[in-house]
Amino acid sequence: MIDYLKKYLNRNGYSNFDLKAVLFDMDGVLYNSMPAHAQSWQETMVEYGFETTTAEEFFLHEGRVADATIDMIYERERGRKATKEEIKDVYARKTELFVKYNTGATIEGSHDIIEFVKQRGLLPVLVTGSGQAALLNKLNDEFPNTFNSDTMVTAFDVEIGKPNPEPFLKGLHKGGNLKGNQAIAIENAPLGTESAHKAGVFTIVVNTGPLDPQVMWDAGADIVFDSMNELYDKLPELLKLFREVTV
Ligand code: MG
Repeated sequence: MIDYLKKYLNRNGYSNFDLKAVLFDMDGVLYNSMPAHAQSWQETMVEYGFETTTAEEFFLHEGRVADATIDMIYERERGRKATKEEIKDVYARKTELFVKYNTGATIEGSHDIIEFVKQRGLLPVLVTGSGQAALLNKLNDEFPNTFNSDTMVTAFDVEIGKPNPEPFLKGLHKGGNLKGNQAIAIENAPLGTESAHKAGVFTIVVNTGPLDPQVMWDAGADIVFDSMNELYDKLPELLKLFREVTV
């Protein structure tokens, strides 16, 4: 694993890490909500007469703000962006179906990782493109005393969103004006990975969805695990390496 860390340090011009915070994505990292997102997007698009989308496609769009996803599909099939009214309607229907399908289940291992990170004195910061009240409002029940408005970046805090580096740069800022080598990001999606990578943060991908892990490496992942449980198993050794490695 140490080679992945050295590669990051060399690429970004740092001699060592000085970890203060862990930047957590939400969907697919903390909540097992991606299957419900993909299903509700796909059903909405079929209802609105679109013919080229697939449920799997929405795992590729994950992390993008909803307006941009809707615009992209309108442009592809109808040769124009969606109107404000269309965006409002499509997103309202998608949200309605999402609330119906979402179980509220968390990803196995996510509680353990949050607790471990806190025990080690690292600050958990949320960096999500989501604006779904159904999930954001339950964070405090699921992960008590972990996130508050000072340590959360959501759809309401960003103008551009993932894959732009903006959300993770804001995450570094909310983490305490941190530099890239003072945090790590935990992501599950290619666009979020691209965003964290471009923000100069070491990006750990947990591949909790159906996509080929190569997609994550191509998006800029520094290391890829199959699950949050696998990351939890490796985390003690990984944090030791973050403290010790120098180039
Ligand atoms: Mg995600």
